[in-house]
Amino acid sequence: MPLVVQKYGGTSVGSPERIRAVADRIKRTRESGNDVVAVVSAMGDMTDRLIELALSVAPDPDRREYDLLLSTGETQSSALLTMALKACGCPAISLSGALMGVRTDRAHSRARIMNIEPARIRTELARGHCVIVPGFQGVTEEGDVTTLGRGASDLTAIAVAVALEAPKCEIYTDVDGVYTADPRVVPRARKLHRISYEEMLELAHMGARVMNPRGVELAELYSLPVEVRSSFNDRSGTLIDRGDEMEERKHVRGVAFDTNVAKITLAGIPDRPGLAHAIFAPLADAGISVDVIVQAASIGGLAEISFTVSRADLERARAVVEPVASETGAQVVHSTANLAKVSIVGTGLQSAPGYAAKMFGTLAGQGVNIDMITTSDIRITCVIDEAAGEDAVRALHSAFELDQGE
Ligand code: ASP
Ligand code: MG
Repeated sequence: MPLVVQKYGGTSVGSPERIRAVADRIKRTRESGNDVVAVVSAMGDMTDRLIELALSVAPDPDRREYDLLLSTGETQSSALLTMALKACGCPAISLSGALMGVRTDRAHSRARIMNIEPARIRTELARGHCVIVPGFQGVTEEGDVTTLGRGASDLTAIAVAVALEAPKCEIYTDVDGVYTADPRVVPRARKLHRISYEEMLELAHMGARVMNPRGVELAELYSLPVEVRSSFNDRSGTLIDRGDEMEERKHVRGVAFDTNVAKITLAGIPDRPGLAHAIFAPLADAGISVDVIVQAASIGGLAEISFTVSRADLERARAVVEPVASETGAQVVHSTANLAKVSIVGTGLQSAPGYAAKMFGTLAGQGVNIDMITTSDIRITCVIDEAAGEDAVRALHSAFELDQGE
């Protein structure tokens, strides 16, 4: 029988009614002649609640115990979904991360999947079961439970689909697919029928929350087609794959918006070799990811470096760089948290000139000041004031003609 791998996100399994609705969809998929493996997230905001609980008993919880606790969110939803399936007469079994063979390294809370040995999944499929598995969890070689990082149930689903050599992976969520921009910000945003891995990856990194970037990366590595669609209706979603051929590619496919941006600036740094390393190495050691980095040309032998981190990391990042700054003789450190990133993304950007000028012109027309700029082959990102962000996104969406059909 053809194999279908599906993933259901937190909202899709957020209540008993939703779990029954998902069970119904899985049952229908099976009755139309498919083997089904479904990967599930924790119900609704369960993971956030478990994190709060952990922090309420220990300010800096032990990482091993923390992962064991967090993994229970997905264990709950997979057991509940399996019960719902069996109650409606559909043969099913749930397998934990350990039973389904997800081996990870030992980096608790951000573990990486080393490999998946899906023997037990195959056995259960052969026994006629739908197999329901928890996302987000794995086990080390010693059998300790790990979690893979926030939002990583998508990654589990892609990894399971790859391990089982499934023809594609269906990601069920609470929106109809991937949009040209967040429809809550841009009411005229349109659903994309198809998008390439690299475009999706840039959008996901730049704030589009529809799919986890590590999942997209893994899908690209194995050329696994992914369909993002809603579990609340039967409309077709967005296909993520290699994308259209070369010249067919559209220029700008989407506008991403991320308000989780804070900036730190160090001014008056003596301009000599090794200083960027002196600043960024301790940040890396502290596990803080730095996003946009801008170094201004030095004047009078003094340089200025600004970089962005996520808002949650701002205080920790300041605490790491302040001593480094004073050791190296930098004069000022300042920080601000009220920033946002707007990005335009599209594979066509690399071959057609003029996109940057048009983007900057559109922002200027809105009276928006650009704080920092970064680009990749297929993306231009501007860091701006958060307060101007939503208007900027709408203006860019119209300027690049995303309001109109594909
Ligand atoms: N439940 C986990 C989280 O909220 C994993 C996921 O939903 O993908 O981060
Ligand atoms: Mg989630």
